[in-house]
Amino acid sequence: MNFASFRRRLLSWFDRNRRDLPWRRNPTLYRVWISEIMLQQTQVDTVTGYYDRFIDRFPNIESLASADLEAVLLHWEGLGYYRRARQLHAAARQIVSHHGGRFPQDFKSVVALPGIGRYTAGAILSIGDGQQHPVLEGNTIRLYARLLNYRGNVRAPEGQKRLWAFAEELVPKRRPGDFNQALMELGSRICRKSQPLCKSCPVQRHCLAAIAGNVGKIPDTGPDRKKYEVVHYGAVILERGGRVVLRRYPDGEKWAGLWDFPRFVLPDSHDSPGAAGFLEKSVQDLAGLKVRLVAGEYPLIQHAVTRYRITLATFRGASIAGRLRARGGGGEIRWTDKSELAGIPMNTTGRRLARILMRS
Ligand code: SF4
Repeated sequence: MNFASFRRRLLSWFDRNRRDLPWRRNPTLYRVWISEIMLQQTQVDTVTGYYDRFIDRFPNIESLASADLEAVLLHWEGLGYYRRARQLHAAARQIVSHHGGRFPQDFKSVVALPGIGRYTAGAILSIGDGQQHPVLEGNTIRLYARLLNYRGNVRAPEGQKRLWAFAEELVPKRRPGDFNQALMELGSRICRKSQPLCKSCPVQRHCLAAIAGNVGKIPDTGPDRKKYEVVHYGAVILERGGRVVLRRYPDGEKWAGLWDFPRFVLPDSHDSPGAAGFLEKSVQDLAGLKVRLVAGEYPLIQHAVTRYRITLATFRGASIAGRLRARGGGGEIRWTDKSELAGIPMNTTGRRLARILMRS
């Protein structure tokens, strides 16, 4: 490949077509870092609104490091994959304790921070500091594989090695940050997964898959991993005197640090005859309360997260007896005033239930 011609064409396309995104204005290391973490697993359009609110509340490393984790989670609420927010917070504290509060500028230190891998470190340093580091993520995996007419499995170690090596060769000394952003933007907008726009592609003449007529066959992502798994959850709303029972997920659980109505994985479907009895026993084991539950008063929530197809049925406590006490390992549990719900970080479906509850 003629790298000089490729780079020239790509950068000139980017200069004419780049999207105006909030993190591209004043791209400091801190601002690029926040955007890169938000963009892991989340679409650009979703991230833009969150990004501005987050930066308003946490404008620099110091404000993020000195905030409570609850405040960070509250500003992350709805973005999902909350591990990212916990790691961001932990990394900010590490930057304060190990790097004097300044975002490190050497690759080794950046990649040692929680939540930052090889791709993210390269993206932050190239975009935020003009350093010559390559990137490889979902869009560029597909793009590089097509440019190279690479027919192997791009997820396998050998495929990853080949694509990283290509990315290293490709990234220029001049404008590496713009170049990397151009590659990712070309991958997402032109070299799309299905129906790539080869006729509008600025680097078509350099693309070996296009020349060989193989675009539709690349990338090979190996055996299909999309085996859906159905999960039935039962949530329990226990309300008394304007207060509701909430539980905070403990460390190690998927939603660690977030609050939710007590929720349990049901052994069977939510409408099976034993569902209410199972939940009544689960509440007693978790919180020491003796309850009688009724179903059917809240809408059934169905959604998909990665390979899971989730059904959440909500049961209301028709009678509640006993004193609330957390049992070992279940996380914090407490009666919470309904008026406080808006200021407490909750997972997405917990928030939906809280809104319904407030309206009812
Ligand atoms: Fe992708 Fe088509 Fe451009 Fe090749 S020519 S890089 S397949 S959009």
